[in-house]
Amino acid sequence: MSAETARRQATDGPPAWQQALAAAIRDPAELLRALDLDPALLAGAHHGARLFPLRVPWGYVRRMRRGDPADPLLRQVLPLDAEAADTPGFIEDPVGDAQSLVGGGVLHKYRGRALLIATGACAIHCRYCFRRHFPYAEENAAVHRWQGALAYLRERPDIQEVLLSGGDPLSLSDRRLQDLAAALDGIPHLRRLRVHSRLPVVLPERVDDALLAWLAGGRLRPVLVLHANHPAELDAAVADAVARLRGAGVALYNQAVLLRGVNDQVDTLEALGERLFELGVQPYYLHLLDRVRGAAHFEVPEREARALMRALAERVPGYLLPRLVREDAGRPWKTPVDWTRDRNGDDAE
Ligand SMILES: *Cc1c(COP(=O)(O)O)cnc(C)c1O
Ligand code: SF4
Repeated sequence: MSAETARRQATDGPPAWQQALAAAIRDPAELLRALDLDPALLAGAHHGARLFPLRVPWGYVRRMRRGDPADPLLRQVLPLDAEAADTPGFIEDPVGDAQSLVGGGVLHKYRGRALLIATGACAIHCRYCFRRHFPYAEENAAVHRWQGALAYLRERPDIQEVLLSGGDPLSLSDRRLQDLAAALDGIPHLRRLRVHSRLPVVLPERVDDALLAWLAGGRLRPVLVLHANHPAELDAAVADAVARLRGAGVALYNQAVLLRGVNDQVDTLEALGERLFELGVQPYYLHLLDRVRGAAHFEVPEREARALMRALAERVPGYLLPRLVREDAGRPWKTPVDWTRDRNGDDAE
């Protein structure tokens, strides 16, 4: 932590981002009021929120259009009746996390990379989240000062990269993350520290000096994968946060989930790529929805996803094309989806 940040904390209490996090909206009625939305939406919102609570920071709500129930940012956070639907094929653990847990809150699926479930907490609750049913209380790497996870990593010289995920790892305090980063620094076979987080997008205040100190101040090469799904998420405050990360030498990528009613139009995907480029962020993955129970209404069929990719490829340079992938339980990589042909194997055009 920099001297300046330490001084600020000593004088003003918790950092600004923790105050913003604590003030996040959790009451569906308050969200509807803030956006001038029809109170008739309230019953469904309460119903959905009983399955997975509402949580959204004010700064994110301010990027939504007032009075528009179809706003693409609102859709990502507003609980709905539809989440109670039991759709065949939509299950609790669609990506096979349970079978990849190796203890200590570590998921080890892919060669050379291990993922730490750093916490179950998030700054925002995304309705499509594939870990909405994950047993965070039992599988959480931060307990016992990371000892279980660190022991696992120390014994595996083939692991080069540690991913911090969750939940959202950046919802933890910098003190805990600093502890972890320092311990990882001391494991000689590790090379990269990768953070997957939605916080720089939904709560850009999070990117302060204290964060940059542990993320980019050590021996490991820092990588941050943002999770932005729509260009309207990337406002000026987010651009500032991203500029601070870039200035500290953090390699920046973005992954998105293809979501019905959020980013299922080629214009939106094009604008997302262009905006990411302005910010200096490389589009990485575009995920097909993981088929988690309660999220069926977000699904874009694979055939439509392929057509969208073909349309996008006609418009943007290759470096702004994300890789369309699907996560199949038990596979040693994210499955690339070939969008150059349609389902019959014929060339599309
Ligand atoms: C997605 C994922 C990774 C990272 O995969 P990349 O293709 O390297 O981005 C690593 N571990 C787990 C368990 C994952 O689910
Ligand atoms: S884990 Fe990620 S996708 Fe799931 S609720 Fe948290 S921030 Fe959203």
